[in-house]
This record gives sequence, structure tokens and C-alpha cells, in this order.
Amino acid sequence: MRSQTKELEEFKARTQELDKVAKMLVRRDLELSETRAKREEEQAKAEQLKNEFVSLAAHQLRTPLSAIKWALEALLDGDAGPLTRAQRELLLQNKHSNERMIALINNLLDVTRIEEGRYLYRPVFSQLEELVQGVVLSYGIEARRRSITLVFDPRKEKFPRVLVDKEKILLVIQNLVDNSLRYTPPGGRVEVALSHDKKDVVFSIRDSGIGIPEEQKERIFEKFFRASNAKQVDTEGTGLGLYFSKNIIEAHEGKIWAEPKTGEGSTFSFSLPIKQEV
Ligand code: ADP
Repeated sequence: MRSQTKELEEFKARTQELDKVAKMLVRRDLELSETRAKREEEQAKAEQLKNEFVSLAAHQLRTPLSAIKWALEALLDGDAGPLTRAQRELLLQNKHSNERMIALINNLLDVTRIEEGRYLYRPVFSQLEELVQGVVLSYGIEARRRSITLVFDPRKEKFPRVLVDKEKILLVIQNLVDNSLRYTPPGGRVEVALSHDKKDVVFSIRDSGIGIPEEQKERIFEKFFRASNAKQVDTEGTGLGLYFSKNIIEAHEGKIWAEPKTGEGSTFSFSLPIKQEV
């Protein structure tokens, strides 16, 4: 009997101890989530400040760059007198650099617009194969210049129409075709295809290019990220195209992904949900 009472007391004491430990853990958990929330708030603030700075700097740079552009065009048009061949060549090189800087600045402004949710979408029901066909045709000359076979075989059947902002989806398709051509050596092949099931229309582009190193493939949709092998073959990239593309596709409730292997080319795909037309 006595030993039973003792056991009961011991049991009570253990339960109280456990209770104390549980309370302490709950308190600690609360403290941790408060610290996490604070850190997230600080990160969001820093991100916003960075965006404001980039946006301001980009806006400020656009005006003088446009002025340079007009001046260069006037010189090239001969407004300030005839040019020698060497002068014309130098001016053309400058014009090219100037245009690249303007494009880069526009990209930076787009990044801030995307991140602030100001990248507006005007969706209309569209036939994706027509958009793809248009882009593939427009890259024909560039593909021939690079000695790359670029193919898209639109099927006879019509695909279900998708609800998209045409301009933005065109940007994504252009980006993916442009990347495949830039990261595929001469003599290579780029194949574009469309398919669909009941839920989605799927675009995919497969190239025989440089691929993406396995350990870096997780990062290719990150802002400004460029894989090490890509930097070697193309020094002019910005690492923004796939970041934009991901944002645009996700804003359409779609998905975008890559299946790259170094040395064996890459396949990029995106899917867009099929919506009922009313
Ligand atoms: P950019 O091409 O200007 O560097 P992107 O955002 O379009 O920027 O692409 C990010 C990175 O993803 C590229 O720098 C490259 O490392 C990789 N990448 C994209 N497309 C391909 C491709 N078709 N083949 C190999 N690597 C690619």
C-alpha cells in the first residue's frame, strides 16, 4: 500500500515536470516564430528599398541614354556631315551598346514591376500554336545564321484555346527559343512541340546544346542567375529571362520547368491551364 502511494507521488512529480518542460517548449516555439516573423518583415523592407533604388536609378539612366541614342542616330543619318566607313562602324558599335543598355534598364524596370504586382495582364482566349508558329518563323534567319536546325511541326488538329496575355506569353516563348539558339553550338538542333491533355496545353523546347550543370539546375529561374557553362559561351546574358518567364507563367496559373543534363542539351517546358470559354 505504502509503496503504491509512493509510486503515485513519483508519477505526479514526473507529470508536473513534464508539464513544465512542455510549457517551456511552447514558450520557446512562440519566441522563435516571433523572431522569424520579425526577420521576414525586415527582409521584405530591405527588398522594397532595393526595388525602389533600382527603379529610381533605372529611370534616371533612361533619359540620358535616350539622348545618346538620338544623337547617334542623327550622326548615322549624316545630319552632321558625311561619315567615313571607319566612323560609321564605330558609331554603329556604340549604337548597339546603347541599345543593349536601354534593354537592360527596361528589364530592370520590368523586374520591379513584376515584384510589385504591377505587371498587368490582359488575358484573351488565344490559339497557342499560332503564337508559337509566329515566334519560330521570326527566329528562322537567326537559326540559319547560327547553322542550327529549328523545327516546329504544328499538328493538323486544333488545340484548345488558352486564356493568356498574348504579349507576355510571346515574351516567354521568345525567351525560350532565344536561349536554346544561344546555348546550342552550330550544327545543333532545336525542336519545339505542343501537346495537351484534358487539363493543360504544354509547350516544350528541346535543344542539343550545352545543358545545365546538375548542381546549378535548381537556380536557373532565380533573378540574375547564370550557370557557369553559359557564361563561357555567351557573355552578354542578364540572367533575367527565365525569372520573367516563371513570373509570367505563374501569373497565368501555369507551371514552368527544365530537364537539363550537361552535354546532352536541355528541355524547357511550360503548361497553361485550359479554361472553359463562356
Ligand atoms: P540569360 O540567358 O540572359 O543568362 P536566362 O534567365 O534566360 O538568362 O537564363 C538563365 C540561365 O539559365 C542562363 O544563363 C543559362 O545558364 C541557363 N539556360 C537557359 N536556357 C538554357 C538552355 N537552353 N541551355 C542551357 N542553359 C540554359
